[in-house]
Amino acid sequence: MIERTLVILKPDAVKRKLCGRILDIFEEAGFDIVEGRFFTPARELIERHYPSNDKYYASLGNKSLANYKEQGLDIKAELGTDDAREIGISIKGWLVDYMTSGPVMAVVLQGNGAIRNVRKLCGDTLPSNAAPGTIRARFSLDSSDYANAQKRSLHNLMHSSGNADEARYEIELWFGKGKADV
Ligand code: ADP
Repeated sequence: MIERTLVILKPDAVKRKLCGRILDIFEEAGFDIVEGRFFTPARELIERHYPSNDKYYASLGNKSLANYKEQGLDIKAELGTDDAREIGISIKGWLVDYMTSGPVMAVVLQGNGAIRNVRKLCGDTLPSNAAPGTIRARFSLDSSDYANAQKRSLHNLMHSSGNADEARYEIELWFGKGKADV
């Protein structure tokens, strides 16, 4: 089924001059670029792009908890808490700082099974856990324990919509009629 999905090449991808190489991977796979914007997002746009609810905060925090555990590291000693929600709230703040730290390249990709297939090429949220050959694994070695120790979000190069509802919401937010206001 032909779908559309939102991809954001994050500020680290732009600074490292990787936009062309990353978009090449999607074009080679057969996806069409059907929309594009290059700009530094306002904090409000990023606040609205990523959810602000306890379930989402816990899911962010749990990624750090699992990563610290895997490394045998003490997250409480590092961040002052081992509560997933509290950690997630800090991460969301760092994420907004990161995503507004410079220009991003936002594009809408269209193609067969675009939502799932773009996620596959993108790889795991934590580059250190991403499968070999995926974009996050090819271009980054970052992990939550390394990033959180520096009180920052993971630098993982790109975003892609997680499912059909997210894709619809995100494409409207970044490219819909109200986009000039965000
Ligand atoms: P994804 O981007 O893979 O869909 P999420 O929605 O869970 O993942 O997280 C949004 C972004 O927040 C990630 O891409 C990453 O930049 C950052 N992030 C997520 N979890 C963590 C974490 N535990 N530590 C630091 N940064 C994180």
